[in-house]
Amino acid sequence: KRLILVGPPGSGKGTQSPLIKDEYCLCHLATGDMLRAAGELVSDDLVVGIIDEALKKPSCQKGFILDGFPRTVVQAQKLDEMLEKRGVKIDKVLNFAIDDAILEERITGRWIHPSSGRTYHTKFAPPKAPGIDDVTGEPLIQRKDDTAAVLKSRLEAFHRQTEPVIHYYAQKKVVSNIHAEKPPKEVTEEVQKALS
Ligand code: ADP
Ligand code: ADP
Repeated sequence: KRLILVGPPGSGKGTQSPLIKDEYCLCHLATGDMLRAAGELVSDDLVVGIIDEALKKPSCQKGFILDGFPRTVVQAQKLDEMLEKRGVKIDKVLNFAIDDAILEERITGRWIHPSSGRTYHTKFAPPKAPGIDDVTGEPLIQRKDDTAAVLKSRLEAFHRQTEPVIHYYAQKKVVSNIHAEKPPKEVTEEVQKALS
């Protein structure tokens, strides 16, 4: 399947995507992870170019999950052109719908194992030992931008630039709404239903 995950920061996209990836053997492309490594704000053309290259990988031929992309309607239009050239299209857009008020606690409690992308939460998904990855025993980190103040501007950008992307795909009748405020297992069930 060819999937897009859309939702504000903290809505649980990164938590759910490994489960989707395992079930459907898809390649997972998270532009946030790619671009944070670059450390800069990037243009639509640059990020579209990065996705275009990544989609050429053999592992991405049968299907893929796009997480954090497209973030603007311009990116969505360019993605469509890119896929049309390849004779394929997006099967499903999972819209991780959630109230803004819930996100501050999600974001400020988030701890990440950088090399694997595994995500924990001090309250909702605590590691076995505080600050330590369950699998490798390596230290966890907090993202510098995971503060209440930065979240506010990330959310503004989401509502202004990325919410229109949901309407863009709604017109194409490929959007499934996920109740992202539910506990992780229930969200997983909804995702599975939407993909079945
Ligand atoms: P995103 O990738 O959409 O920014 P994450 O998957 O990183 O969001 O989730 C943000 C934080 O919230 C993480 O600390 C994660 O452990 C936690 N979390 C994810 N899904 C849920 C959920 N359904 N209920 C409670 N906490 C969650
Ligand atoms: P957030 O958790 O705020 O949604 P991400 O982890 O998805 O952020 O991305 C981190 C940063 O990378 C973003 O704040 C943005 O500057 C950049 N970025 C990620 N995806 C894109 C994109 N599709 N287009 C432009 N910039 C992007």
